[in-house]
Amino acid sequence: PDVLSDAVLAGLDPEQRTVVTAPAGPVCILAGAGTGKTRAITHRIAYRTLTGEISPRHVLAVTFTARAAAEMRARLGALGATGVQARTFHAAALRQVRYFAPRLLEGRAMPELLESKARMIGLAAARVGVRADRAAARDLASEIEWAKSSLVEPGEYAVAATKGHREPPHEPAKVAEVFAAYETLKRRQGVIDFEDMLRAAVWGIEEHPDVGEEIRSQYRHFVVDEYQDVNPLQQRLLDAWLGGRDDLTVVGDASQTIYSFTGATSSYLIDFARQRPGAVVIRLVRDYRSTPQVVGLANAVIRQARGNEARLRLELVGQRPSGAEPELKIFPDEAGEAAAVARRCRELIAGGTPASEIAVLFRINAQSETYEEALAEAEVPYLVRGAERFFERPEVRQAMIALRAAVRSTPGETPLVQAVVEALAATGWAREQPPAGGAAREQWEALAALVTLAEEYAKAPTLEPIGQAGAVQRDVTLSAFNDELARRVEQQHAPTVAGVTLASLHSAKGLEWDAVFLVGLADGTLPTTYAKTPEQLEEERRLLYVGVTRAREWLWLSYGQTRSGSGRARRPCRFLPQLERNSPTERAGSLDRSRKPDRRRSQVSSCRICGTTLLGGADRKMGRCPTCPSDLDQDLLDRFTTWRADTAAGLKVPAYVVFTDA
Ligand code: ATP
Ligand code: MG
Repeated sequence: PDVLSDAVLAGLDPEQRTVVTAPAGPVCILAGAGTGKTRAITHRIAYRTLTGEISPRHVLAVTFTARAAAEMRARLGALGATGVQARTFHAAALRQVRYFAPRLLEGRAMPELLESKARMIGLAAARVGVRADRAAARDLASEIEWAKSSLVEPGEYAVAATKGHREPPHEPAKVAEVFAAYETLKRRQGVIDFEDMLRAAVWGIEEHPDVGEEIRSQYRHFVVDEYQDVNPLQQRLLDAWLGGRDDLTVVGDASQTIYSFTGATSSYLIDFARQRPGAVVIRLVRDYRSTPQVVGLANAVIRQARGNEARLRLELVGQRPSGAEPELKIFPDEAGEAAAVARRCRELIAGGTPASEIAVLFRINAQSETYEEALAEAEVPYLVRGAERFFERPEVRQAMIALRAAVRSTPGETPLVQAVVEALAATGWAREQPPAGGAAREQWEALAALVTLAEEYAKAPTLEPIGQAGAVQRDVTLSAFNDELARRVEQQHAPTVAGVTLASLHSAKGLEWDAVFLVGLADGTLPTTYAKTPEQLEEERRLLYVGVTRAREWLWLSYGQTRSGSGRARRPCRFLPQLERNSPTERAGSLDRSRKPDRRRSQVSSCRICGTTLLGGADRKMGRCPTCPSDLDQDLLDRFTTWRADTAAGLKVPAYVVFTDA
C-alpha cells in the first residue's frame, strides 16, 4: 500500500499534493481550467483509500456528466482504488430513491420518469389557455426547470422571476399558472421529472430518519467536481447527505459557470470557506492541459470578465511545450466552414491524430447537423455527444426490449455477437447497410454501438469493475449481456464509439481533446441572440472560455460570414481578442454572389473551388474551372464566362468565370 500511495503522489505538483494529503474536513480547490483539479481530487480519493484512512465504499464522488463519472472511475481503477461510487447527482439520487422507494411508498409502484417534459408542458399550457408551439413549450420547460432547481414553488414563481436577471418567456403570472398545471398533470399521471427525483431523494433523507441514517452511514466522504455549476436543489441534496458533517471536498472554477440558466450559481463555491470554518482552500495556476498559445488566448478571453469570477481569477500559467498559434478563419458561409473543418479532420487523422482525440464544438445543437453531413461526406467517423442520453434513445430502448425478448428464442450455443446482430436484424436494422447521413444514420450508429459493446463484452467479460461488484468472471450469454446493459443503464455508462466528437460547448466541460475546432464563432451565434442581459452575456463569454480550454495541442476558430450564402455578413464573436485573421480562398462548391472581387488578389491562377490550375490568370478574375460542377445560372454564365473550345467534344466549355465590379 505504501508503494501504491507513493505512486499516487508522484505526478502531482506541490499544491496538488496539499489537496491530496489534506486531513478530513472541508477542502476547496479554486482554480482555472486545465490546472488538474479533477486529477487532484481523483488522487485524493485514491490516496485516502489506499492508505486505509477511509473505505472506498463510504465515498460518494459527484461529477457533472455520466462520461466524467465513468472517467473518474477509470482513473481511480488505474490508480489501484476500486469500489468508489462516482456518479452524477441524478444517477446518485435515482439509485437512492429506487433503493428506499419500496419502504416509503408502502407497496405503491415507483413513478416513472417523464419521457418528454416539453410535451407535458405543452399540455399544461393549453389547460391554462397559454398558446405554446414546440419552441415556446421548450422555453417554458427550461424556465420551469430553472424554478424547480432554484427551489421556487409555483406560488413563489412570479416574485422570484422578477428578482432574477432573467427574461421570463411569458408574463410571470402566466408562467406560474403553467407551472402549477404541469405539477398537477404529472401527479395525476403518476410520473416525475428529473427535479422531482432529486426532491424525492431529499425528502426521503430529511423526512424519514431511518432512511437518512442508512444513507448517511453508507456515504461519509463526499467529493464534488465542477462545483461552480451546482444549483440550489443539488446543494440541498448534498446538505441532506452530509447531515451536518463536513468531510467534503469541492473543486470548481467560477469562470466556467455555464449552467446558470438552469439555476446553477458559483456563489456556493465562492462562499464555501466562509460557510465552513477551518476549510482548507487551495489555488492552482499551472495549466497542464494546453499549449502556452491556447492558455494565452484563454487568459485573454476571460480577462475582461465581470461578475463572481473576476474576484477570484488567477492567470493561468502554461506548462506545456509551445504549439501553433490559434487563428480565426472566416468563410463565406456555414457550409464552406463545415466542409473545411471536415477536410482538416481528415488531414489530422491521416497525420496520425486518433479521431477520438478530435472535437468539433458548437454553441447550439442545431449546428450539429451541418457538421454531421460534412463529416459523413468526407468519410470521417464521428459521434454526437450528449451520449449520456444514449440509453434514452427510442431505438436503443426498443433494441434492448428486442434483445430481452430474443433470449428465449436464441439457441444457447449461439455466439453472443451473432445473437445480438440477429436480434437487431429482426427489428429492421441491417449491419451491412449504414445509411449515408441524417437521423446522423444516427440511429444506425446507436445500434452499431450496441453491437460493438457486445463484441467488447464477448472478448473481455470482466470489462472494468464498477461499484462493489469487483472484477468477477461473467458468462458470455445473451442474457448475461442484457444484465450488463441493465447495469450500464443504471450507471448511465454509455458506450464510447471511436470517432470525432461533435458536441455542444455545454456538454464539453471537464473534457479535453488534442485537437479542438470551435466553430460558428460569430456574434449572434456566440453570444447567442437570446443573451440580452449583461449577466447572460457574461455567461456566453465563459462558454467561450470553456471551449478554448478544451484544446490540448491545436485549436481552430472559425465562422461563416453568412448562414446560407446570402444575407448580411456577420461579425466575429465579440469576446475574441484580436487574432490573426485568415479568410481562406477555398469554397464549398457554391459561389458567393454577394461578394465583390478583391482587387488585391488580382493574380488568380487556380480554381477557387477545386484548386486546379487555370490558364490565363488575368486581372480581377475569380477562376472556376470546367471540371467543377457548375451551379451557376445561365445568365451569369453568359455574362461572365470566357469560353474555350473543347476540341475533343467539338463544344465550347466555360474556362473560367469572371466577376467584375460592374
Ligand atoms: P477543467 O477545469 O477543464 O475541468 P481540470 O482543472 O479538472 O480542468 P484536469 O482535467 O484534472 O484539469 O487536468 C488537465 C490535464 O492536465 C489532464 O490531462 C491531466 O492529466 C493533466 N495534469 C494535471 N495535473 C498534472 C500534473 N501535475 N502533471 C502532469 N499533467 C497533469
Ligand atoms: Mg475538471
